[in-house]
Amino acid sequence: MLLFTPGPTPVPERVRQAMATPTIHHRTPEFTKIFKQTRELLLELFGMEDAVMLASTGTGAMEACVTNLCKQKALVVNAGKFGERFVKIAEAFGKEVVELRYDWDTPASVEDVKTALQAHPDIDAFFVQICESSGGLRHPVEEIASAIKAINPDITVVADGITAVGVEPIDVSNIDALITGSQKALMLPPGLAMIGLSAHALRKIGNGSGFYFNLASELKKQREGTTAYTAATTLVIGLREILTIILKELGRDELYDQTDRRASATRLALEGIGLQIYPKKPANAMTAIIDDQAEEIRKLLKNRYGVNVAGGQEHLKGKLFRINHMGLIEPNEAAWVVNAIEKALADLGRIEYTGKANKIFNEIYFEA
Ligand SMILES: *Cc1c(COP(=O)(O)O)cnc(C)c1O
Repeated sequence: MLLFTPGPTPVPERVRQAMATPTIHHRTPEFTKIFKQTRELLLELFGMEDAVMLASTGTGAMEACVTNLCKQKALVVNAGKFGERFVKIAEAFGKEVVELRYDWDTPASVEDVKTALQAHPDIDAFFVQICESSGGLRHPVEEIASAIKAINPDITVVADGITAVGVEPIDVSNIDALITGSQKALMLPPGLAMIGLSAHALRKIGNGSGFYFNLASELKKQREGTTAYTAATTLVIGLREILTIILKELGRDELYDQTDRRASATRLALEGIGLQIYPKKPANAMTAIIDDQAEEIRKLLKNRYGVNVAGGQEHLKGKLFRINHMGLIEPNEAAWVVNAIEKALADLGRIEYTGKANKIFNEIYFEA
């Protein structure tokens, strides 16, 4: 079965091997050495002032950013489940929240953000997804972040890059906190979250807030090469391995380029057989297709063609299917996926199978 869900993604063999070594104690010089190397690689990946790792899923890092970086009022872009999650977290911690709601296929606009900031001068932190995974939507985060900083550089910009870091280049010049998680583009098992932090964010964190997710206590320990509580040693070892592959061997530009070609080739192949891309601005992390027969297609893909793709959530349940592009994926596997979708449409009597999707995919992917 090919795992083509936008998280979790398949873990490369070499990374699995690295994580299969015997457990080592976290308070030892051996682990400190590994931790420091991993931290250096992570700082290189983010290209920001500092970085922190947390033993939690991505949502833990979202929570840590709300509790440590929003002092009074949050402005949140909500165009899907993950935007909504920022709202819920902020409310759970008693923060005032101003919500900018959009349909799940619609990117946030710079103008709406400016208007909200004028109406609420006490907003001190902004939260947004780079890719909102509910609809595979890319928000214009860099543009919005730059507009926010031009209005007031003290407003903290928090970007959830869980399905963007490791997918495409991100301009972090106006981003204060960039969140990612292990099980998406970083190709690791679930359970580790990471945050890149700007100098502004470090000042605002100060002595931190909360207990387990107090970023000040974590940063202090992590700069010394250890963690405040037991480190997720196995996942840190896996992270060192995958970051070595991405940054030192393959090169991140090559990873972004392969992902971009795979995403474009998939979108064009599926449009070529009459399917409709859901978001108005698709992210490269995944392709989301809106279709009344989404469930039938998903079942055929899984039971007949050995491909596991994700469905839609809430009002898009049964109407959407999402194909992952994150990570290192062989083009023959990605080509099989679009071919299998064409076969499934033929099985449903909607089109005649000609191999067109596979042809378009290969022409686009191997174009250059
Ligand atoms: C997967 C994901 C998360 C975090 O989910 P966890 O299940 O907590 O790891 C957050 N934001 C986005 C955009 C995601 O895709």
